[in-house]
Formats: sequence, C-alpha cells, structure tokens
Amino acid sequence: MQDPLDILHTTFGFSDFRGVQAQVVDRVMAGQHTLAVMPTGAGKSLCYQVPALARPGTALVISPLIALMHDQIRSAEGFGIRAASLTSADDNRQETLARFRAGELDLLYAAPERASSESFRNLIAQVPLALIAIDEAHCVSEWGHDFRPDYRLLRPLLDRFPGVPRLALTATADRQTREDILHQLGIPDEGLIVAGFDRPNIRYHIRPRDGLSGQLQTLLANQPGAGIVYAPTRAAAEKIAEQVGKMGRPTGVYHAGLDPGVRARAQAAFVQSEDMVMVATIAFGMGIDKPDVRFVAHAGLPKSIEAYYQETGRAGRDGDPSEAHLFWGAEDFSRARARVESEVPEDRRGGERQRLNAMGALVEAAGCRRAILLRHFGETPPESCGNCDNCLEPPQAVDATEIARKLLSAAFRTEMRFGIGHLTDVLAGKETDKIHNFAHHRLSVFGIASEDELPLIKPVARALMARDALRADEYGGLSFGPGARAILKGEEAVEIVLPPKRERRRKRRDAADY
Ligand code: ADP
Ligand code: ZN
Repeated sequence: MQDPLDILHTTFGFSDFRGVQAQVVDRVMAGQHTLAVMPTGAGKSLCYQVPALARPGTALVISPLIALMHDQIRSAEGFGIRAASLTSADDNRQETLARFRAGELDLLYAAPERASSESFRNLIAQVPLALIAIDEAHCVSEWGHDFRPDYRLLRPLLDRFPGVPRLALTATADRQTREDILHQLGIPDEGLIVAGFDRPNIRYHIRPRDGLSGQLQTLLANQPGAGIVYAPTRAAAEKIAEQVGKMGRPTGVYHAGLDPGVRARAQAAFVQSEDMVMVATIAFGMGIDKPDVRFVAHAGLPKSIEAYYQETGRAGRDGDPSEAHLFWGAEDFSRARARVESEVPEDRRGGERQRLNAMGALVEAAGCRRAILLRHFGETPPESCGNCDNCLEPPQAVDATEIARKLLSAAFRTEMRFGIGHLTDVLAGKETDKIHNFAHHRLSVFGIASEDELPLIKPVARALMARDALRADEYGGLSFGPGARAILKGEEAVEIVLPPKRERRRKRRDAADY
C-alpha cells in the first residue's frame, strides 16, 4: 500500500487533507466500513479517490446519476486517475470491461441497478477490490429525501465482499437517515464521521413572497456576481427567466424539459460568467463546479431542510461572502401537503409531513436561521450567528392567538370554502355584494376584527398554513388542517413574526411609488 499523503501531494497537488478527510481516509485505509456525512464542497470524492490509489485493486463507485458519474470521471482523469463507467450511455463498455479485468482501472463507476445484479457481482469477483464507495448514500433510506429503491438491493453485493471496506458518502442526512444508512449498508455505529455543516460565509434570508418580480429586482440590484434562482416548476422557470431577463443581467434558463444541447450550453455559459443569473429548476446544480456562485434564491419552498441546505450550499464554495434568499408562499405549503396526501405512498407520508413541518418552523422562525439548520444536522450551534436575516435585524414577534382564532372561526362559519380575501372582508365587516349574497353579514364573526388586527390577518393565515392549521384548496378556499382545533379551543398559542420595522416602512414607501 502507498502512503495516502504522498498520493495527495503527487497526484492531486494538494498540501493537506481538509477537515474530516484524513479521518475518513484513515478508516478506509484500515479496511473499516465508514459513513462520511460531509456538506457539499467539503471534498467527498477525494475520500475515496485517495484510498482507491493507495490500496491495491480497483475501487467500485456506486452513483445514482450518469451525468454525475461522467463529471466525476472527467475530474478524476484530470488528475491522471484511470476511471471509467459502465452505464447504458457508455458505448465503450467492452473496452471498459477489458481494462477492468486487466487491472488497469483505479475507479469503476456503476449505477445501483447494474451493481445490484448477480452478473455484476460475478464480474467484480474477478478482480481485487480496493473499496466500494456508495455515493449519495441517503438514497438508500426511506427517511432520506431522495429514496431510490435500487440502493436497497446493494446489500448482497456488499456482503459478497465482506473484507472490502465500504465507504458511504452523503451531503445530506439528518439523524434518522444516518442511522438508517448505517443499518441498511451494514456499517457499524463507530464508522459514522460527520463533518461540520456550517457554511459561515453564506448569509441566509427568508421572506414571504410578496410581488416576486419586485423582490428579485431588489435582490439583483444589491447583489453582483453570478447566481441561481430556483423555480418550483419548468413553467415558472420560463416565466421568471423572462422577467429577470428584463432586469439588465445576462440571464439563462435551465430545466429538464429543454434539449440536452441547449442545457449544456446554458450550463457552460453560467460556469464561465461572472454576472449571469440562471433561472432553473432543481435539475440544475448537481455536479456543477462553479466555486464563485454569489447567491442562490428560491422562488418557492424547497421540499425539505436537506434540499434547502444542499441547494443554498451551491453558493460561495470559494469561501467568499454569499447570500441565500428564500421567498416562500403559504400556497407552497398547501400544495406540498396536498401532494403528500395524494401522491406519496401511505407508509412514507409521516416522514414527508415531518419534513414540511421542519420547513414551516424554519420559515416562521424569529430566531437564528443557521442555528435551526445546524441543529437539524445534529450540531449544537450558538443561539445566534450574526450572519442571517434574523440575527442582523431581529424580526418582531407578535402574539396573534386571538386573531388566529377569529380567522379560524370565520373559515368555519363560512363553511370552509372561501379564500383569505373574502374572510378578511367578513372579519373587517365590509358590506360587499359577495357578503350579502351569502348572508355573511349575519354571522357572529362579521366585523369582529379590530382596526389593528386587520393587517395581521394575512401573516396569520400564512403562519397557520405553514404549520398545517389551515389548508388551501386549488381555488384558495381555506379549510381546517389537523392543527386548527387546538388553536380554536385556546389550547395553543400562535406567535407570528413580522419583518423588521424598517423593512415594512420601506415597503409602504415602495407601494406609494406605483
Ligand atoms: P463534494 O463532492 O464534497 O461536494 P468535491 O469532492 O467536489 O466536494 O470537492 C470540492 C472541491 O474541493 C474540488 O475542487 C476538490 O478538488 C477540492 N478539494 C477537495 N479536497 C481538497 C483538499 N484536501 N485540498 C484542496 N482542495 C481540495
Ligand atoms: Zn443567525
């Protein structure tokens, strides 16, 4: 065996291992099964590349996406490492097999579908293995945000070669997912190595969506450098790209519905640009090596804290100050919750609901955003980071229990099918035609909100939707979610956060301009 540090110096030209890399490499060199949880940019690939070269034999790398494998191979070859993949997209499979059998490969990449087959196990048995790396290992867990059943089928492969060290790698795994990965892949508890998740150079901002195009314009006006705007759907990406394109910055659009050639060109232009705004679905970003992304904005709610962390983590990989902006809407929660109830298999709904509740707590928080993120990943961070919106300008927390109860009563009395506009009119005691048509002026809730409470109705509705006390149907009609009764009965308080005073004043001024 060769010395890993020599390989780091000679093959990679790096002077030192970073963070937990040395710990991970040591374990693999010693033949021990390991799960490395390392944030994006922490240098996971090196953790298997170095032992692949230092230990005798070929390293098998399981990876979920062909594009990801090809990126990794290109980068490995750049360091003079002999790497190839066996996928349906590779027409040189015969050549790769010959190289593998002749012991001329340092890294062999395969997708889990292929790697879990018996014929593949027989193939692998012909050559000594340095290690088996399982990339994106959270895919093995139903708790993870990206479960892929094929990962579950890997166990016979791993067990066929019990003496070959397994190295599972992931950027995103909360405590439950980690335990599940260890269990599923047969890695002992002491094999878990977790790197620090903090990205201190990223400043987090989270605001309700309120005229998105204006919000993006303000953001771009104050934010030089290249950035990504994540849109929830392809159609939204197209529409937002059109708006952003008029804001004076080079703009690209990227989603899976575009022709591969168009996508490749957009990506290449972005990687080279210093001021381009890429409006994209989450199809964009995996495996893109652009360390100087200055900001990542979300135009809609990410599907979990893991996803939010991973997507915002594409900003500032060079360590320079960078920003993450999330613009969320109450309807994002309604839509996501409806999707969970209708599309997700029953046994996985619990996990998905928890993920949404965790997002609800993040967006509605009055305290440090970073602390919430880091606690989610099992760390014990300080109460305040000094580099997120809430730390820099503490929001105003308001006890809104009474107005929340009034709003819920109004929804209940009007048979839970009206939207926030109408319910606000009812609570305000407005004599509109619609109110007369439905005889809502005769209800006990008509006009019960005070002048001071009226501006709070919308933020309260948003908060209630984030915590699943209110749900909106596709036309915006509001009905009770599971959290409603306790609030209505006065068993649970509702606190909402309002943006800092200065921002609200600015907003009023902006509004007057138009
Ligand atoms: P991850 O897969 O964890 O997101 P990568 O493996 O892509 O991260 O590594 C991120 C970048 O850091 C790459 O450009 C890589 O070459 C570089 N890198 C990794 N380890 C080191 C190190 N020990 N010293 C210097 N650069 C490193
Ligand atoms: Zn903070």
